[in-house]
Amino acid sequence: VGVFYRPLEKIAAVIETYPRGIAGFRRYQELLATDPEIADAPDAIPAPALRGDIRFENVSFGYDERPILRGIDLDIKAGETVAFVGPSGAGKTTLLALLPRFYEPTSGRITVDGMALDQLQLHSLRRQIGLVSQDVFLFGGSLRENIAYGRLGASDAEITEAARQAQLGPLLDSLPDGLNTIVGERGVMLSGGQKQRVAIARAFLKNPPILILDEATSALDSQTEREIQSALDALSVGRTTLVIAHRLGTIRNADRIAVMQDGRIVEMGEHGALVARGGVYARLSG
Ligand code: ATP
Repeated sequence: VGVFYRPLEKIAAVIETYPRGIAGFRRYQELLATDPEIADAPDAIPAPALRGDIRFENVSFGYDERPILRGIDLDIKAGETVAFVGPSGAGKTTLLALLPRFYEPTSGRITVDGMALDQLQLHSLRRQIGLVSQDVFLFGGSLRENIAYGRLGASDAEITEAARQAQLGPLLDSLPDGLNTIVGERGVMLSGGQKQRVAIARAFLKNPPILILDEATSALDSQTEREIQSALDALSVGRTTLVIAHRLGTIRNADRIAVMQDGRIVEMGEHGALVARGGVYARLSG
């Protein structure tokens, strides 16, 4: 999971050195737009509104000389939900980190709606990819600011609606200051489940055509887990969803399952078909 947090750590560092609130947000936008590791090609174009067809063509990648992803071919249709499963270290997180271009493939090509990622301006691509990960980044500030982090300039009505879709309604109603409640170390401490709902609310607000979910491995009580699951199910409707899946329910409900092993996709298909095949997936899920 480390991969996703490198950028977030940078953002956290920046926000801490700035006054709380909107200045921090603006800085974050600048940071994403000027990530020194990945520059826009001079002729990069702003991404149009994406449908969310995603294609990996013979993509390989390594953080150093050691190859991590080896010749990945993957074709995902707009609106489809694909669950990525496989042993720890197989490369699931790394693969999905290539989509918002946290890293560049060493060879091969990734396209969205037929356009190569590196031909699109980075900020216009990332604006259309939602990321809900298990380690949620909250900063000291109001609940409003923490949710609006999904989309700057959202109205209170939009923020409240996103909070309700993420099943934060009961929490909001129980707080005398509502969206103005300060959360984090100097305010109301949120539980693990509430933090995840904040991350889901951000994604509802952002309303992206493409969603990357890194499902929590840590145990939540079963009621909370069900609520989060149903919020995530609602969130993924109509979006291309790539989920690093740990729960059997998520895996079974996915349109297709990609089984990764040692940097390759070794099996891909729907749950029943993969079980019938009697291969790696059947052994993993058996
Ligand atoms: P898990 O289910 O444990 O999260 P994963 O399938 O998502 O595993 P990755 O996190 O993609 O696997 O890791 C694949 C390999 O890449 C591992 O060997 C890991 O040690 C290595 N790796 C991950 N992130 C980095 C990094 N930032 N720098 C160097 N190596 C890394």
